[in-house]
Amino acid sequence: MSNEMPRRGVCLVLCAASGAGKSSVSRALLQSEKALKLSVSATTRAPRPGEDEGIHYFFKDIPEFQRMIAAGELLEWAEVFGRYYGTPRAAVEQALASGHDVLFDIDWQGHLKLRAALPDDVVCVHLLPPSLGELERRLGARGQDSEAEVAKRMAAARDEIAHWTDADHVLINDDFAATVEGVRSILAAARTTRARQPGLAAFVATLGTP
Ligand code: 5GP
Repeated sequence: MSNEMPRRGVCLVLCAASGAGKSSVSRALLQSEKALKLSVSATTRAPRPGEDEGIHYFFKDIPEFQRMIAAGELLEWAEVFGRYYGTPRAAVEQALASGHDVLFDIDWQGHLKLRAALPDDVVCVHLLPPSLGELERRLGARGQDSEAEVAKRMAAARDEIAHWTDADHVLINDDFAATVEGVRSILAAARTTRARQPGLAAFVATLGTP
Protein backbone atom coordinates (compact mmCIF):
# COMPACT_ATOMS: atom_id res chain seq x y z
CA MET A 1 0.00 0.00 0.00
CA SER A 2 1.47 3.35 -0.95
CA ASN A 3 -0.47 5.51 1.49
CA GLU A 4 0.90 3.92 4.62
CA MET A 5 3.24 5.51 7.09
CA PRO A 6 5.62 3.61 9.35
CA ARG A 7 3.45 1.72 11.77
CA ARG A 8 3.52 -0.81 14.55
CA GLY A 9 2.40 -4.28 13.46
CA VAL A 10 -0.86 -5.94 14.42
CA CYS A 11 -1.14 -9.18 16.39
CA LEU A 12 -3.83 -11.04 14.48
CA VAL A 13 -5.19 -13.95 16.50
CA LEU A 14 -7.37 -16.48 14.71
CA CYS A 15 -9.41 -18.51 17.15
CA ALA A 16 -11.54 -21.44 16.06
CA ALA A 17 -12.49 -24.93 17.03
CA SER A 18 -10.41 -27.64 15.43
CA GLY A 19 -12.33 -28.44 12.23
CA ALA A 20 -13.63 -24.89 11.68
CA GLY A 21 -11.10 -24.26 8.91
CA LYS A 22 -8.52 -22.17 10.74
CA SER A 23 -5.44 -23.80 9.17
CA SER A 24 -6.66 -23.29 5.59
CA VAL A 25 -7.60 -19.67 6.29
CA SER A 26 -4.19 -19.07 7.94
CA ARG A 27 -2.36 -20.50 4.95
CA ALA A 28 -4.32 -18.34 2.51
CA LEU A 29 -3.68 -15.21 4.59
CA LEU A 30 0.04 -15.86 4.83
CA GLN A 31 0.21 -16.27 1.05
CA SER A 32 -1.70 -13.12 0.20
CA GLU A 33 -0.50 -10.79 2.97
CA LYS A 34 3.19 -10.12 2.49
CA ALA A 35 3.55 -8.14 5.74
CA LEU A 36 2.07 -10.99 7.77
CA LYS A 37 4.34 -13.51 9.52
CA LEU A 38 3.30 -16.59 11.46
CA SER A 39 4.29 -16.76 15.12
CA VAL A 40 6.02 -20.12 15.54
CA SER A 41 5.19 -21.51 18.98
CA ALA A 42 7.38 -23.60 21.26
CA THR A 43 5.95 -26.93 22.41
CA THR A 44 6.91 -29.99 24.41
CA ARG A 45 4.87 -32.33 22.22
CA ALA A 46 6.67 -34.57 19.76
CA PRO A 47 6.79 -33.55 16.08
CA ARG A 48 4.15 -35.17 13.87
CA PRO A 49 5.15 -36.56 10.48
CA GLY A 50 5.85 -33.68 8.13
CA GLU A 51 6.42 -31.11 10.89
CA ASP A 52 9.72 -29.28 10.84
CA GLU A 53 11.66 -27.58 13.62
CA GLY A 54 11.28 -23.80 13.39
CA ILE A 55 8.57 -23.99 10.70
CA HIS A 56 5.63 -25.58 12.52
CA TYR A 57 6.97 -25.41 16.07
CA PHE A 58 10.16 -25.10 18.06
CA PHE A 59 10.24 -28.51 19.72
CA LYS A 60 11.55 -28.39 23.30
CA ASP A 61 11.95 -30.79 26.17
CA ILE A 62 10.21 -29.97 29.45
CA PRO A 63 13.30 -28.60 31.30
CA GLU A 64 14.09 -26.26 28.39
CA PHE A 65 10.45 -25.11 28.24
CA GLN A 66 10.49 -24.42 31.98
CA ARG A 67 13.75 -22.49 31.59
CA MET A 68 12.09 -20.34 28.89
CA ILE A 69 9.15 -19.63 31.22
CA ALA A 70 11.46 -18.69 34.10
CA ALA A 71 13.60 -16.46 31.86
CA GLY A 72 10.54 -14.57 30.59
CA GLU A 73 11.20 -15.71 27.02
CA LEU A 74 7.53 -16.56 26.40
CA LEU A 75 4.81 -13.94 25.90
CA GLU A 76 2.26 -16.52 27.02
CA TRP A 77 2.14 -20.24 27.58
CA ALA A 78 -0.48 -22.88 28.35
CA GLU A 79 -0.92 -26.58 28.90
CA VAL A 80 -3.09 -28.23 26.22
CA PHE A 81 -3.74 -31.99 26.15
CA GLY A 82 -0.99 -32.42 28.77
CA ARG A 83 1.66 -30.68 26.65
CA TYR A 84 3.11 -27.22 27.01
CA TYR A 85 2.72 -24.63 24.28
CA GLY A 86 4.01 -21.06 24.30
CA THR A 87 4.72 -18.01 22.19
CA PRO A 88 8.37 -16.91 21.99
CA ARG A 89 8.55 -13.22 22.89
CA ALA A 90 11.54 -11.92 20.90
CA ALA A 91 10.33 -12.74 17.39
CA VAL A 92 6.93 -11.12 18.04
CA GLU A 93 8.35 -7.94 19.52
CA GLN A 94 10.86 -7.53 16.68
CA ALA A 95 8.17 -8.08 14.05
CA LEU A 96 5.75 -5.57 15.58
CA ALA A 97 8.43 -2.91 15.98
CA SER A 98 9.45 -3.28 12.32
CA GLY A 99 5.88 -2.90 11.05
CA HIS A 100 5.20 -6.57 10.38
CA ASP A 101 1.91 -8.11 11.42
CA VAL A 102 1.99 -11.43 13.26
CA LEU A 103 -0.55 -14.22 12.87
CA PHE A 104 -1.20 -16.47 15.86
CA ASP A 105 -2.62 -19.96 15.67
CA ILE A 106 -3.27 -20.39 19.39
CA ASP A 107 -6.19 -21.47 21.55
CA TRP A 108 -8.51 -19.26 23.59
CA GLN A 109 -6.29 -19.42 26.65
CA GLY A 110 -3.37 -18.21 24.55
CA HIS A 111 -5.46 -15.41 23.10
CA LEU A 112 -6.45 -14.07 26.53
CA LYS A 113 -2.89 -14.26 27.83
CA LEU A 114 -1.49 -12.64 24.70
CA ARG A 115 -4.05 -9.84 25.02
CA ALA A 116 -2.98 -9.31 28.63
CA ALA A 117 0.69 -9.16 27.54
CA LEU A 118 0.11 -6.87 24.52
CA PRO A 119 -3.20 -5.12 25.19
CA ASP A 120 -2.86 -2.51 22.43
CA ASP A 121 -1.71 -4.89 19.69
CA VAL A 122 -4.14 -7.81 19.63
CA VAL A 123 -7.06 -8.17 17.22
CA CYS A 124 -8.90 -11.47 17.55
CA VAL A 125 -11.12 -13.04 14.91
CA HIS A 126 -13.15 -16.10 15.86
CA LEU A 127 -14.11 -18.42 13.01
CA LEU A 128 -17.29 -20.39 13.70
CA PRO A 129 -18.09 -23.62 11.87
CA PRO A 130 -21.30 -23.33 9.79
CA SER A 131 -23.08 -26.04 11.81
CA LEU A 132 -22.54 -28.72 14.44
CA GLY A 133 -23.08 -31.44 11.83
CA GLU A 134 -20.43 -29.95 9.59
CA LEU A 135 -18.00 -29.66 12.50
CA GLU A 136 -18.59 -33.33 13.44
CA ARG A 137 -18.13 -34.33 9.83
CA ARG A 138 -14.87 -32.41 9.50
CA LEU A 139 -13.47 -33.82 12.74
CA GLY A 140 -14.53 -37.39 12.04
CA ALA A 141 -13.71 -37.29 8.35
CA ARG A 142 -10.01 -36.86 8.97
CA GLY A 143 -9.91 -40.60 9.47
CA GLN A 144 -6.53 -40.64 11.19
CA ASP A 145 -7.78 -40.54 14.79
CA SER A 146 -9.56 -43.11 16.97
CA GLU A 147 -13.20 -42.63 18.07
CA ALA A 148 -12.00 -41.65 21.56
CA GLU A 149 -9.64 -39.11 20.02
CA VAL A 150 -12.48 -37.66 17.90
CA ALA A 151 -14.72 -37.41 21.02
CA LYS A 152 -11.91 -35.61 22.86
CA ARG A 153 -11.50 -33.21 19.94
CA MET A 154 -15.27 -32.55 19.86
CA ALA A 155 -15.19 -31.64 23.57
CA ALA A 156 -12.22 -29.34 22.96
CA ALA A 157 -14.05 -27.83 19.96
CA ARG A 158 -17.11 -27.03 22.10
CA ASP A 159 -14.83 -25.45 24.71
CA GLU A 160 -13.16 -23.31 22.03
CA ILE A 161 -16.50 -22.24 20.50
CA ALA A 162 -17.79 -21.26 23.97
CA HIS A 163 -15.10 -18.56 23.95
CA TRP A 164 -16.42 -16.82 20.84
CA THR A 165 -17.40 -13.88 23.10
CA ASP A 166 -13.70 -13.13 23.75
CA ALA A 167 -13.16 -12.18 20.10
CA ASP A 168 -13.30 -8.69 18.56
CA HIS A 169 -14.72 -10.07 15.30
CA VAL A 170 -16.67 -13.22 14.51
CA LEU A 171 -17.07 -14.81 11.08
CA ILE A 172 -19.12 -17.90 10.20
CA ASN A 173 -16.86 -19.92 7.93
CA ASP A 174 -19.42 -21.17 5.45
CA ASP A 175 -17.56 -19.82 2.41
CA PHE A 176 -13.77 -20.14 2.44
CA ALA A 177 -13.01 -17.27 0.04
CA ALA A 178 -15.41 -14.91 1.82
CA THR A 179 -13.87 -15.80 5.18
CA VAL A 180 -10.35 -15.09 3.94
CA GLU A 181 -11.53 -11.79 2.47
CA GLY A 182 -13.30 -10.95 5.73
CA VAL A 183 -10.16 -11.51 7.79
CA ARG A 184 -8.09 -9.50 5.30
CA SER A 185 -10.51 -6.57 5.67
CA ILE A 186 -10.28 -6.75 9.46
CA LEU A 187 -6.48 -6.73 9.23
CA ALA A 188 -6.51 -3.78 6.82
CA ALA A 189 -8.73 -1.81 9.19
CA ALA A 190 -6.60 -2.69 12.23
CA ARG A 191 -3.47 -1.40 10.45
CA THR A 192 -4.88 2.11 10.18
CA THR A 193 -5.97 2.81 13.74
CA ARG A 194 -4.43 5.97 15.20
CA ALA A 195 -2.51 4.00 17.81
CA ARG A 196 -0.73 1.94 15.12
CA GLN A 197 0.67 5.01 13.34
CA PRO A 198 2.83 6.93 15.82
CA GLY A 199 4.08 9.30 13.08
CA LEU A 200 0.63 10.66 12.28
CA ALA A 201 0.78 13.72 14.54
CA ALA A 202 4.01 14.86 12.88
CA PHE A 203 2.53 14.25 9.44
CA VAL A 204 -0.65 16.17 10.22
CA ALA A 205 1.51 19.04 11.49
CA THR A 206 3.05 19.28 7.99
CA LEU A 207 -0.48 19.92 6.69
CA GLY A 208 -0.56 23.09 8.76
CA THR A 209 -3.20 21.73 11.10
CA PRO A 210 -2.73 21.33 14.87
P1 5GP B 1 -1.45 -29.08 18.07
O1 5GP B 1 -0.72 -29.96 19.01
O2 5GP B 1 -2.61 -29.77 17.42
O3 5GP B 1 -0.51 -28.45 17.06
O4 5GP B 1 -2.05 -27.86 18.91
C1 5GP B 1 -2.86 -28.10 20.02
C2 5GP B 1 -3.44 -26.81 20.53
O5 5GP B 1 -2.44 -25.94 21.06
C3 5GP B 1 -4.17 -25.99 19.47
O6 5GP B 1 -5.40 -25.56 20.02
C4 5GP B 1 -3.26 -24.82 19.24
O7 5GP B 1 -3.99 -23.67 18.83
C5 5GP B 1 -2.67 -24.62 20.62
N1 5GP B 1 -1.41 -23.86 20.57
C6 5GP B 1 -0.43 -23.94 19.66
N2 5GP B 1 0.56 -23.08 19.94
C7 5GP B 1 0.19 -22.42 21.06
C8 5GP B 1 0.81 -21.39 21.86
O8 5GP B 1 1.90 -20.87 21.59
N3 5GP B 1 0.13 -20.99 22.95
C9 5GP B 1 -1.08 -21.49 23.28
N4 5GP B 1 -1.67 -21.00 24.35
N5 5GP B 1 -1.70 -22.46 22.56
C10 5GP B 1 -1.06 -22.93 21.47
